[in-house]
Amino acid sequence: MNTRIYRTDLEPLEEIVKVCAGLLEKGELVAFPTETVYGLGGNGLNAEAARKIYEAKGRPSDNPLILHIGRKEQLYELVTEVPEKAEKLMEAFWPGPLTLIFGKKDCVPDTTSGGLQTIAIRFPSHPVARALLCACDFPVAAPSANLSGRPSTTKGSHVIDDLNGRISAIIDAGDVPIGVESTILDLSGSQPVMLRPGFISAAEIEHVIGPIAIDPAVTNDNIISHSIETAHPKAPGMKYRHYAPKAPVTVVSGETEAMIRAIKTHADESTGILTVDEHQDRYDKGIVLSVGSKEKPEEILHNLFDVLRSFDEVKVDRILAEDLSEEDTTGALMNRLLKSAGGNFLKTDEL
Ligand code: AMP
Ligand code: MG
Repeated sequence: MNTRIYRTDLEPLEEIVKVCAGLLEKGELVAFPTETVYGLGGNGLNAEAARKIYEAKGRPSDNPLILHIGRKEQLYELVTEVPEKAEKLMEAFWPGPLTLIFGKKDCVPDTTSGGLQTIAIRFPSHPVARALLCACDFPVAAPSANLSGRPSTTKGSHVIDDLNGRISAIIDAGDVPIGVESTILDLSGSQPVMLRPGFISAAEIEHVIGPIAIDPAVTNDNIISHSIETAHPKAPGMKYRHYAPKAPVTVVSGETEAMIRAIKTHADESTGILTVDEHQDRYDKGIVLSVGSKEKPEEILHNLFDVLRSFDEVKVDRILAEDLSEEDTTGALMNRLLKSAGGNFLKTDEL
């Protein structure tokens, strides 16, 4: 398939949006930027478009898609009930990086919801996403625009690497502002449950609606102890391998000096080392890439997927990553890093 690539810095947005909304209307797939990561969009009310999304990504069909809307009113056409707590959260965080899960109306195909009777809804704030969604009179199902299992895409060039030739169009708007996926909160049951940590922290949500539960499947301890399968995640997709670069990743924990020493001892020329600016020149072997300064946790979160992808280009055999727990202000940073490592988290003396 020939993939059309539109760059927002070279062509007028209205033209791009017109063509791409037309493609979505016809059931074709279009990748577009959001404030979190790039999304792979298809008409969310068209089961055939959802099937194409699973195929283009190589995604298991029981891993549900998130419906993206450009106007809050669209929500009421898609879900059975909007609880009071949802109204408060939408007021506080929409448009923005918070996905909410509700009971699903029949107009949403089961293929889109991965066979579940609930549906995840997001109202993104990125101007290109908003323009595209507002030009469509249907919700747009959009998982992250990466091949299944790979790190999410935070630049147009990442999307081209993964999906060129597999979908109809890519809207390349360069770098996205946040760089990590939305927080997912399930409001379909009696108590709100966080199903994925993201840019909005549990504390920020609790500030608006009071206490929430965290799905045991997404806690760092359970990712490390490989209890994800036995923790019976609410969304089947949470059990799958995620965010992984080609080389295996090991996260190394311990007191800073001991951690650096252990990584140095075990690294050779073909080892990738994922570190922070402050430690970068402490390593004399291997391919050393920094995710940013310890002083700027948001920058670290923004750069993580890009750095994981960069290790593929330099072809390392293995990646030793510093433990970034101290820089994790949202809960999303270590969740993504540990998942990229398949839970492989070792203390310095276990390396
Ligand atoms: P991605 O689109 O790649 O960001 O992945 C979307 C994630 O949203 C899935 O892996 C699920 O974990 C979650 N999700 C989407 N819809 C639902 C739902 N109805 N119930 C629970 N989790 C969901
Ligand atoms: Mg994804």
